[in-house]
Amino acid sequence: MALEIIPRSVWGARPPSSTPPHVASKDRIVIHHGADNADVDGIEREVAVMRGYQDYHMRNGAIDIYYGVVIFPSGRAYVGRQGSPFTNNGGAYGTHHLGFGVCLPGNYMSKLPTPTALQKLVEVCRFGLTTFGLTPDRIMGHRDCGDLDYRNATNSCPGNSLYNYLPEIRRLTQISEEDSIMIPSPVQKSHVFPDIFQQQYKAVWLVTKNETAAPNKVTVVCTAGKAFKAIDTYTLAPWERVSKEIKPLIKAVGYGSEPAVSITVQTTEVSAAYVREL
Ligand SMILES: [Zn+2]
Repeated sequence: MALEIIPRSVWGARPPSSTPPHVASKDRIVIHHGADNADVDGIEREVAVMRGYQDYHMRNGAIDIYYGVVIFPSGRAYVGRQGSPFTNNGGAYGTHHLGFGVCLPGNYMSKLPTPTALQKLVEVCRFGLTTFGLTPDRIMGHRDCGDLDYRNATNSCPGNSLYNYLPEIRRLTQISEEDSIMIPSPVQKSHVFPDIFQQQYKAVWLVTKNETAAPNKVTVVCTAGKAFKAIDTYTLAPWERVSKEIKPLIKAVGYGSEPAVSITVQTTEVSAAYVREL
């Protein structure tokens, strides 16, 4: 599954002010938050934030936007710095952004990014680990980069909530989509969760992807050996991808203490769906 990252041309990036003299450290993936209120939704607002970041960074002496990749609450990811997403993030210019930087706009001191954004973050990190040949322990918060950042003493980036979630991100990079249970459609297919509410899973996410240019109606049905109940219906826009935590939805229809729950996903257009147990 190719990683989808929106190119610079879409957000109207200006060219860098000079050519990077070298490609810097590839020994880590550095997670940032924006520490701002730029966790906007919608492509128009997202591209405005991208241009704003680039303007701000270049006004402060960088040759380009710092970040290699920026991930919004929608799950859309944008290429930041010119060239490969994995080129030097400014470390050669006296900033603290050494390594491959991934930024999630917004402030994650006391809340987490959206599940869709976290999902994308896992994919970007997985891609980075493979590209650089790194192990998951090299996924770091900006605050962990004191060895490279002379301003690190007061650094709380990427926010306490997101920082505390990084062990989970590291773990999830080791679970590939291929390991998950695929639900091919439009043929409907079920997956049985044994003991879904007793096991140690923090969450069970259903991820659906519309792989056509037409809207795609999705119906999720569950049964616990009793009547089938629709737990959710939604429409996916063309090429849209949605992640949902399904345990609360199952509980909401009155199932929750049964030893096994199965869910069935039905879609009207060709799509992919899979479940991920955390
Ligand atoms: Zn940072």
